Amino acid sequence: MTLSAVAYARVSTVAQTEGYSLHVQTAELARYCQHKGWTLQRLFVEPGSSAKTSQRPVFGEMLEYCRKHRDAIDVVLVHKIDRFMRDTYYHTQTRNLLAGYGIVLRSATEPISEDPSGKALEGMLSVFAQFDNDVRSGRTVSGMKAAVEAGRWCWKPPRGYVRGETASMDHDPDLAPVVRQLFDDCASGAFTLSALADRAKARGLDLHKQVLCRMLRNPLYIGVVRVDKWGIESTGDFTPLVHPETFWRAQAVLDKRGPGARKPRQLARAEFPLKGLVRCVHGVPLTASWAKKRYRYYQSQPRCPGCRVNVRAEALEESFVNLLNELQPAPELVRIFKEEVLNVWNQTQKHARDEQARLSWRLKAIQKKKDRLVEAHVHEQTIDAKTFREHMDRLREQEAIAKLERYDAELEDLDVGAVLAFAERTLCDLAGSWNRAEPPQKTRLQTLLFPSGVTWDGEGVKTQKTASVFSWIDPISDDASLLVTPTRFELVLPA
Ligand SMILES: [Zn+2]
Repeated sequence: MTLSAVAYARVSTVAQTEGYSLHVQTAELARYCQHKGWTLQRLFVEPGSSAKTSQRPVFGEMLEYCRKHRDAIDVVLVHKIDRFMRDTYYHTQTRNLLAGYGIVLRSATEPISEDPSGKALEGMLSVFAQFDNDVRSGRTVSGMKAAVEAGRWCWKPPRGYVRGETASMDHDPDLAPVVRQLFDDCASGAFTLSALADRAKARGLDLHKQVLCRMLRNPLYIGVVRVDKWGIESTGDFTPLVHPETFWRAQAVLDKRGPGARKPRQLARAEFPLKGLVRCVHGVPLTASWAKKRYRYYQSQPRCPGCRVNVRAEALEESFVNLLNELQPAPELVRIFKEEVLNVWNQTQKHARDEQARLSWRLKAIQKKKDRLVEAHVHEQTIDAKTFREHMDRLREQEAIAKLERYDAELEDLDVGAVLAFAERTLCDLAGSWNRAEPPQKTRLQTLLFPSGVTWDGEGVKTQKTASVFSWIDPISDDASLLVTPTRFELVLPA
């Protein structure tokens, strides 16, 4: 059976400058249908709408068409999710509505599950906000790191210890002797793990074998504070519960028979910060690994046949930092950028408030109609089931559209001034910010700066400027045009 599709295309000023002109979009939609063997029943085109307005008359027409012809349509095809609906909320709402008609939603250029957010102005601001938060919590973490380095255990004490008065932990008067005995028993080599578990249970410590094993491996019992993820090992500020000799003998016994034999260390993101960001010239993300346990390498993936990238991590990362330095915008530009964003934000907010009010009013009206409809059908029985369903479907559809539009008009509650100040600091020292960032923040910053990744071309890390945040900051042609066009950022924000 051939599936039947309708396609929806939307153009905007941005789209055209980015090469997603209407012509390109429709051609791709048609080609996609052909490739899939679908019949393209109808193409809906939303004419150039500004980024500001959330109204989409053709979108409504398309939904109405889907409702009326639901039996004859299987798929709604869009060119790109973010051209159609800016984020997951939009996506979910629309998908659910269509699903109610038995129609699925597909994108011609990306897997449907891909999160399309993070490109628009609010998206960018929220990323910076998140990044800012991370750095803030990073400061808390650095306080904790200092404490750990000084030998304080900052988390819940393990069995046998309790939180201490002056030292970070004291011995638990009830459980300390039981734990000590367990280590002795284990070190003697005379008991299996199950037997050890039984003995512990008899003494009031009921533990699963795995938990018991992890406990017997815990260096806190000999006063060693170790936090692997921070690479910190220090001498505890508390009195150890177990003699080191007993502990190490117990480890030897466990190594031989316990299930606690060390697992090979996993590739930590921290060791390869650019993994996932850097791609080969064919667009496949590079993978990473250690060679001879000493040298870090980024490599091409087996699924990219014929690709022979194998580059020392230091070289690639240095090249990435060079790229950051190359792209480093002048402080003056960053300042103008900041002011422009703030300006656009304020305008957007004013517009959003008006829109919100209008749409809330409309939603109330729709709800009233729905109530009246239910009243007429259920209580007064003045309309039949078929008519009821038809009207209800139409109202639900109007409601969904209004909700989507209202959601479009919603703005994140954000301390924009603070976020932008932070963005300014980050943008004014890209390489430094990247170097100083903790691994998860590094990843976030990288993705923010290069949403479509960067390429290793065999000699260095390269990027297309248009695919990065820098295209928003750079002057279009000359500085003069930048200064006299107050709405410039509206033009470069994706619709
Ligand atoms: Zn490749």
